Amino acid sequence: MSEHHHLRIEKPPKVSVGPKSVTTASKMILKAMPPWKALRLLGKLNQKKGIDCPGCAWPDPDKRSKIGEFCENGVKAIAEEAQHKLAGEDFFKLHTIDSLRKKSDYWLGHQGRLAQPMIKKEGSARYEPIAWEEAFETIGNHLKSLSHPDEAVFYTSGRTSNEAAFLYQLFVRKYGTNNLPDCSNMCHESSGIGLSETLGIGKGSVTLQDFEHAEVILIFGQNPGTNHPRMLSSLEKAKRKGAKIIVINPLKEVALMKFKNPQKINGWISKGTEIADLYLQIRINEDVALLKAWLKLLLQDENNLDMDFIRDKTSGIEALKADLANHELEDLIRQSGLSKEDVLLSAHWLSAKNKIIACWAMGLTQHVNAVDNIREIVNLLLLKGSIGKQGAGTCPVRGHSNVQGDRTMGIWERPTKAWTDKLKEAFNFDPPQSPGYNVVETIEAMNQNKVSFFMALGGNFLPAAPDTLYTEQGIRKCELTVHISTKLNRTHLAPGKISLILPCLGRTDKHIQNGKEQVVTVENSMGVVHGSHGSLTPPSKLLKSEPEIVASIAAAALGNDDINWAGLVEDYDNIRALIAKAVNGFENYNERLKRDNGFELPNGARKGEFNTPSKKAVFTVNQLSEKIPDGHDYVMMTIRSHDQFNTTVYGMDDRYRGVFGGRNVVFMNKEDMQSESLSQGDIVELSNNYKISRKVAGFAVVPYDIPKGCVATYFPEANPLVPLHLHARGSHTPASKSVGVNVRKVK
Ligand code: SF4
Repeated sequence: MSEHHHLRIEKPPKVSVGPKSVTTASKMILKAMPPWKALRLLGKLNQKKGIDCPGCAWPDPDKRSKIGEFCENGVKAIAEEAQHKLAGEDFFKLHTIDSLRKKSDYWLGHQGRLAQPMIKKEGSARYEPIAWEEAFETIGNHLKSLSHPDEAVFYTSGRTSNEAAFLYQLFVRKYGTNNLPDCSNMCHESSGIGLSETLGIGKGSVTLQDFEHAEVILIFGQNPGTNHPRMLSSLEKAKRKGAKIIVINPLKEVALMKFKNPQKINGWISKGTEIADLYLQIRINEDVALLKAWLKLLLQDENNLDMDFIRDKTSGIEALKADLANHELEDLIRQSGLSKEDVLLSAHWLSAKNKIIACWAMGLTQHVNAVDNIREIVNLLLLKGSIGKQGAGTCPVRGHSNVQGDRTMGIWERPTKAWTDKLKEAFNFDPPQSPGYNVVETIEAMNQNKVSFFMALGGNFLPAAPDTLYTEQGIRKCELTVHISTKLNRTHLAPGKISLILPCLGRTDKHIQNGKEQVVTVENSMGVVHGSHGSLTPPSKLLKSEPEIVASIAAAALGNDDINWAGLVEDYDNIRALIAKAVNGFENYNERLKRDNGFELPNGARKGEFNTPSKKAVFTVNQLSEKIPDGHDYVMMTIRSHDQFNTTVYGMDDRYRGVFGGRNVVFMNKEDMQSESLSQGDIVELSNNYKISRKVAGFAVVPYDIPKGCVATYFPEANPLVPLHLHARGSHTPASKSVGVNVRKVK
């Protein structure tokens, strides 16, 4: 039976969310747990002193909604984590690793929560139970046996709490390496670098409240309907206050066209709220061309600009003007693939307003020139003085609940001198100074047999990474791989010679340490740190919390040196007391957490203070995108479906794009299909030739509203086509959003 047996392709809907999202979410959560448990959990989701959603990092409003402060995908995230089933000894007795590899990611994720520590011994074909102590000893002995700490790599996924992340980086640096790659390397690293260079902070400057004061909101390369759904409520509020919304996205996304808010009566009875006032379906990765066109048009008249801000707060505008003089407006508009009317109209809207918020996600950060994309956006906001004031600023929207918090806690392979100095002062040791491996460098080092030990604190490294076959080859070269996970995933099935799976508590589970209920903390996309209180009895008595697992591994590898690792996790207040000592902005951490359940971290750009060498915001000169290599007919972007969160597949549908029951699909422009004599549902092979040829087969063609010459596919299915060396300059973020491919009919 072909993998497309269940595939159904329909016209995408005209409106997003609405009653349909309520029924879909209800079905999903009631499939995973009984109604009483579902109601109890949802009643606490994103509420004060409640459970922080393990989905994206969109902030919670001060005034929480009583009928539910969550979205459809938040419910799916909870349903996925708090499922009743358990995958324990009996499950693994039934399945060899090879038999599990034949299963889909959806199937693997629905086999239940991991119930006990498991080991795949050298030469064995399956996982079998192991005692915690023996597992920690195995890891400790291996780490002690390495000839250099840089033979070990410690990966982090963005779901990890601040407490676990801080302990992890402290342990790893005490062990002697900065090999701390994380999922941020694959998503907003380009944002961090572009913003730090120009504004002196790698985070966004806006607050949630700013959306209610914005006059123009730009949304670049982002699909909030699936990836940050509660953002739609903020856009709806902004629209009601008169804001103009300009969407810049190759793909026509229904949630950026019309939204029905199920938390409002009119969300059930009305036609919904128009979101985009202007939908600019730009060619993939031509954002710099559009931005340069806007900059040229705005610079034609000083009345369009905030001259006081430019004079007092910025540097570098002459170089920018000189660069723009080298580009013809007509050429820039042509390169963007947009109509002159739309470019002039949008420039007119921008010229008249200065409370401008620019939002973006992977559609800007996963390109070779991704850092240029971010810096060019900052150029636009600086010309308008749209930084450091109400209703204006930068808004890189984080897709993982604590990815920003992990970075704030020191999870970074390139720590600043200020960070290592602070660690040295607080913990009296010499942290390693030389940069460690990021994700791309880790995969390269693994393939060069430089990595013997790979540990993942959460996440699903293999399918999340580019160049799947090459990445798997590298992981399998490791002597020992260790995964701290809640559920079975594909990376577990690409084991090193020896492999351990250590099952941890989830965000919904109670963390009881020493008889006391523990709180973990996270940081949302707008720099607000807050607590998360698990409320469920863990599904298995053999689970441990992430902080406890990290502390036990540290003790096993380092011995109970001058840090009492076991003592630290007896009460997470102890960990936060250390964080308060070592991390700026976390003074009186425990008191503030108890008092207000959270606090906003310092953010200079938010106040118009720029922590750059010149203490000024910096205009920069940026490059237009490179052409894809000759011999490739299309530019491919990889995307998520609506039933997906990163590599977690909640279901096989993508109802916002009219795709049901399948994931091996390629979205194509109708004219391109005609020129290739392709029809809906035809099965094709996608291939490319970057140094070596890569291909994936068995993809069904789906006609879609996407510019000519551009195609879209889901990751991880299309990740084998993304070459490891194709990554962003400066940030090394894989360029998964602009990969050259060819499409060939196979039957
Ligand atoms: S918007 Fe993001 S954080 Fe909020 S409920 Fe949805 S998935 Fe969770």
